[in-house]
Amino acid sequence: MDRMHEYHNKLEDEGYIAEDGEPLKCQHCNNKSFVEKDSYFECVGRVEYTLVCDKCNEFAGHWAYGYWQIN
Ligand SMILES: [Zn+2]
Repeated sequence: MDRMHEYHNKLEDEGYIAEDGEPLKCQHCNNKSFVEKDSYFECVGRVEYTLVCDKCNEFAGHWAYGYWQIN
């Protein structure tokens, strides 16, 4: 198990992210609502966007081509 994996599992156990990495709760203030920013579209539709916490404005996750990145 690598360190990134452990980090991911810990966040998942604590309810911060879903199994696929989607942010569920802000890691900074535990707020559960997010704002979608910086959407990027291609002809197939939206392919990328960033989620930020709607309370503290901190980065929560970035979705691109079906995958979540949370750092
Ligand atoms: Zn927050």
